[in-house]
Order: sequence, then structure tokens, then C-alpha cells
Amino acid sequence: LASRAFKKEDTVIDVRGHIIGGDKVTVMAGPCSVESLDNLLEIAETVKAAGGQFLRGGAFKPRSSPYSFQGHGEEGLKMLAIARDKTGLGIISEVMEPDKVALVSEYVDILQIGARNMQNYPLLREAGKSGKPVMLKRGLSGTVDEWLMAAEYILAQGNPNVILCERGIRTFETATRNTLDLNAVPVVQSLSHLPIIVDPSHGTGKSAFVRPMARAGVAAGASGVIVEIHPTPAKAWSDAAQTLDFDEFRALVDDVERISAAL
Ligand code: PEP
Ligand code: MN
Repeated sequence: LASRAFKKEDTVIDVRGHIIGGDKVTVMAGPCSVESLDNLLEIAETVKAAGGQFLRGGAFKPRSSPYSFQGHGEEGLKMLAIARDKTGLGIISEVMEPDKVALVSEYVDILQIGARNMQNYPLLREAGKSGKPVMLKRGLSGTVDEWLMAAEYILAQGNPNVILCERGIRTFETATRNTLDLNAVPVVQSLSHLPIIVDPSHGTGKSAFVRPMARAGVAAGASGVIVEIHPTPAKAWSDAAQTLDFDEFRALVDDVERISAAL
């Protein structure tokens, strides 16, 4: 179902009037973790004013340490819903457990499946049954074929609205947190009709490299970018080192819109 052989034309997904896929570049941005309502609303207004379409924010966080902040859970989802009502942005948030798919689906416009769960097949099945568009991140060690087969699990439940997100893979390189595999953009597009976006925040792990790699992703043909932003990145509750401030974010949006228009 994910293959070009099954469907020739690119899949274009309309999420409450926000288009993903096709010619226009989609910008998703927000904090790694939802913190406070005031902080989230300030970020949402910035995303909206800069021309972004989606607000991201983690309410259930897959942290490397069990002692790190794990997210506000449903309270965080409620804050995201308030931000959507105030701005009209679409909202996207991660779901980590099959049992939480129904709850998260009550609030979000797009379910995010995180890199660590790319091959969590029970979770993929539940996300497929939810009826919500699903953004499937590539696993840290997932091959393109494994990733497309993971997408297949969602599609096989009758849910055609899958967005792929390249977020960097594990390589021998330690200068960056992950290696954003831009080969994956044209490779996936040759194999699949599904839209693919890039996440240069997790793909680099360092804020200085996020903007150039966002540009590169769009130049490679990605349908959009998802990035982490915060009014004071150093104080972000998670992923501070890769988080952009508002000026950096506005410059990034300007860049990717110009590159997309030139293609
Ligand atoms: C995130 O988007 O904050 C996140 C945890 O991403 P990933 O699953 O790509 O690590
Ligand atoms: Mn993050």
C-alpha cells in the first residue's frame, strides 16, 4: 500500500485545511516538551506569525533516562488543544503506547510515532485504527525498507494518511547527535507515494546546524520540516541544545519557503 507500484500519484493530506505533500512546504514547530500554557501560547503565536501550519509539543516523552521529565500527559494535550483554538494551527504530539492512542487522538490532529517506536507493531496498528493522520518517524537504526514496512502496518488498517519523517539515524559519527540521512528523501520518494518531511533538530542535535539542514532537506525535495523552538532555548525542559530561538526560527521559515518556491 505504501509503494509507488500500488499508487502512482503523490499522497497529499489535508489536515483541517493544512496541506501536507504536494508543492507547498509544511512547517511544524514547537517545544520538545509542552511546559506551561503561557510558554506554549507564546510559541504557538510565533509559529503562526512566521507562517507555520502545525504546533508540535510532547506530552508523553520518550526520555533516555526514567528520571528525566516524562511529560505532562493529558494536561499537556489540553494545553495543545487550547493553543489550536487560539491560533488555528494544527497540532501534533507523540503517542508511545497502544493504550493511549484513543486518548491522544481526542486532542491532536496528527499522531506522532517516535523513532524508538517505529517497529512497535501493536502501536502502529492502533494508530492505524484511530482514523487520525499519523507521522511515522524513522527509527534510529531503521532501514528505508523497514520504515516503509512499518508504514504498511498503519496503512493496512485502512488509514491512508501517513507522513514519513526522517529524523536522523545512528552512524559512527559523534560530532552530531544523529546523522540526518537526506538520501532517504529521494529514495523514499522513488519507492513510495507518501509525503516525507525532515526533522533537522533531532537529525543534528545542535541548534547551529538546524537551519542549514532544514534548507538542505527542502532542497532535496522534502515536503516540510519539523523543528524544536522555544523563547529561551537554554531553559527548555528537554532537547535544549538543538532548540532554536524565535529569530532563528523565523529565518529558517524564510529560507525554506524561498527554496521551496524556487524548486
Ligand atoms: C521528539 O520529537 O521530541 C522526539 C522524541 O523525537 P524522536 O522520536 O525522533 O527522537
Ligand atoms: Mn525532542
